[in-house]
Parts: sequence; structure tokens; C-alpha cells
Amino acid sequence: MSYFVVNENCNGCLACVENCPANALGFQDNGEKRTILHNMARCVRCANCWRVCPQQAIEFQHFMENEWDEVISLGLVHCRVCGEPLYTANLEKTVTGKTGREIDALCPKHRELNFAARQALILSGKSM
Ligand code: SF4
Ligand code: SF4
Repeated sequence: MSYFVVNENCNGCLACVENCPANALGFQDNGEKRTILHNMARCVRCANCWRVCPQQAIEFQHFMENEWDEVISLGLVHCRVCGEPLYTANLEKTVTGKTGREIDALCPKHRELNFAARQALILSGKSM
């Protein structure tokens, strides 16, 4: 996605490129075409380009967009009683691999209830 958006008034004068304090703007002249380039990792959103543009061509509102990009989607493990999402299957695999112990998929509430039930059985002399 490009945050630096210009409208049809841009005439390629390069005032924005020359006045960007962060070297976030550049250009390439290739054959018949001039291309304006923008690098968001360098851009500090100072709006200098917008101020100096003699054509009012820069649509600065796009710099203010603040979206979340998905990085990765992983399968979840849920509480075996109530279905509450707990942790990812990959995390479970990592922990199981490091400890050699299986994890009982229980949310805090059902882990506590499970523990209390076990305690009650132990006290009554029975086992689960
Ligand atoms: S200063 Fe404005 S008109 Fe000139 S190249 Fe930049 S966006 Fe286009
Ligand atoms: S907002 Fe500032 S840093 Fe970003 S491109 Fe424009 S002049 Fe450069």
C-alpha cells in the first residue's frame, strides 16, 4: 500500500523530492517516464512535501491512515471444557517439545475446577 498519494495535478516538478528532509522521496527517469518514489520506512510524516507542492497534488490524508496488517495466522488450542481460546498449537508444540510433557488444554477457571475435583477425590480416598 502507498501512503504517498498524488492526484492528477502532479506535474513531476520534483519540489517535494528536493525538499524532503528525510530522503524519503526520490525519482527515476526511465525512457519516456518520470516516476516519483516514496519510502515509508524513511518518511517522518512531517508534511513538508505537502507544504511545498506548488500543485496541491499531495493527498496527505493517506499518510494518516493507520491500519493493522496481518502478519501470520496460526491455529488455536481451545479449553477442552468451555472452548475458550488458550494458545496456539505451535506454542503447545514448542512447550511440549522442550518439557516433554503434554499440556492439558484447560482455561484458568476449568483448570482450577479440575484441580479442586481431583483434590476432593483424593480426600475421599478415591482416584480419578
Ligand atoms: S511537488 Fe507536487 S507537483 Fe511537484 S512532483 Fe511533488 S507532488 Fe508532483
Ligand atoms: S512527509 Fe516529510 S518525510 Fe515524508 S515524504 Fe513528505 S517531506 Fe518527506
